[in-house]
Amino acid sequence: MQKTDVLIIGGGPCGLAAAVGASRAGAKSIILERDSKLGGILKQCIHNGFGLHLFNEELTGPEYAKRWIDKVNTCKDVTVCLNSFAYDIEKNGSSFVVSAYNEEDLIEIEAKSVVLALGCRERPSGAILLAGSRPSGIFTAGCAQKLINIDGKSVGKRVVILGSGDIGLIMARRLTCEGAKVVGIYEIMPQSGGLARNITQCVQDFNIPLHLSTTITRTVGKDRLEGVYVAPVNERLKPVMELEKFVPCDTLLLSVGLLPEIEIAGTFKPEWCPATNSYVVDEYFQTNTQGLFCAGNVLHVNDLVDNVSREGEDAGYFAGLNALNKLKIAPKLTISFDEHIKYTVPKYIYNTGEGEAKISFRVNKNYRRTIIRAMSGGQEISRKPTPAVTAGEMQTVVIDKSKLADDLHLEIQIL
Ligand SMILES: Cc1cc2nc3c(=O)[nH]c(=O)nc-3n(C[C@H](O)[C@H](O)[C@H](O)COP(=O)(O)OP(=O)(O)OC[C@H]3O[C@@H](n4cnc5c(N)ncnc54)[C@H](O)[C@@H]3O)c2cc1C
Repeated sequence: MQKTDVLIIGGGPCGLAAAVGASRAGAKSIILERDSKLGGILKQCIHNGFGLHLFNEELTGPEYAKRWIDKVNTCKDVTVCLNSFAYDIEKNGSSFVVSAYNEEDLIEIEAKSVVLALGCRERPSGAILLAGSRPSGIFTAGCAQKLINIDGKSVGKRVVILGSGDIGLIMARRLTCEGAKVVGIYEIMPQSGGLARNITQCVQDFNIPLHLSTTITRTVGKDRLEGVYVAPVNERLKPVMELEKFVPCDTLLLSVGLLPEIEIAGTFKPEWCPATNSYVVDEYFQTNTQGLFCAGNVLHVNDLVDNVSREGEDAGYFAGLNALNKLKIAPKLTISFDEHIKYTVPKYIYNTGEGEAKISFRVNKNYRRTIIRAMSGGQEISRKPTPAVTAGEMQTVVIDKSKLADDLHLEIQIL
């Protein structure tokens, strides 16, 4: 059986950065990637907008991935195993044994730390109980993106998009550039789930109609999709059927959310977060199973890849320290939050008395003019005025840990 300090499952931006982080800690690592190439979802994202924060440049997805593949290639202590699908993790004393298969064989690798960097998958039509038959022409947005950008195929001519997450918005622009007519994007919520820049650059700049508080009630078509029925929804998100109308189209793209690829660690029962559908982690990106780390989109859906890389590098670094028995643990403090916030990553920080802790979180709807306050021991220890916070954009606060007196509480004060 092969042995390593850190085993990283997934060779997307998170896994690549985790290998760089593990190397910085002085640990050996192996990346297991099921695909024949590194880069994860970035390989099919040929639009630009990646790397603005880390490289101060607007890179395409493949260019951004290349930067990190080059970094990994300079680390002598990283082994990359492509075409290797990890399917099980077992605990073996203080180590883990990960089982995988590649083109030739079943393999087992023993590691002191494991970093889960498996990304997420799209919710399909079955997950949203979309009524109607199952004609061809219904795709998830990421699947259509792969067909167009990697396989060079056309998916349709007259397109409706359900959901206004970033993938749907980006595909609206991509299909328009490819000569298709995007007749409308229908979003059940009163606000888009995408980044403000994608609403401007992908929808408004191309005059694509975005219908908020509206959903698709059923699909129509036998062999190929012929159209969809749409209806506005009431305040309880129920369609108002008297206002239902038919929209002819031959293609429907679904952009209705992403689910973390978390099943591989199903035999463990680390603390769970229902809001992210994934594990709870501390500030080292470690779950409450010692040695099991989790970061990137498998931990929570990020809107910027730069944040994924930062998380991955930290997770890999701390996983490396754990493998080398150098990870310092101080008293654990819990982060709680008010009703405007859905979740925080991490949930626990360590009271080391020095340094900073970066906390990412999402709010449950859009708010204008707010102050993000961090409280500890009844005192305000951080205050961040913001012109607006939106459900589609990840928020962050940085805490000076020398000010922590007790557990941390985050709240959104609406002005
Ligand atoms: C359509 C789209 C557009 C985007 N646009 C932008 C943008 O403009 N700007 C921006 O900053 N960000 C953007 N993002 C976000 C960014 O691409 C993601 O946040 C990032 O790719 C997540 O990285 P990850 O490593 O966590 O996951 P992924 O990139 O999904 O990588 C996970 C890897 O794990 C592998 N894997 C999964 N299961 C296994 C297994 N069992 N065994 C072995 N390997 C496995 C997968 O093959 C994959 O390579 C976009 C994302 C999408 C989908």
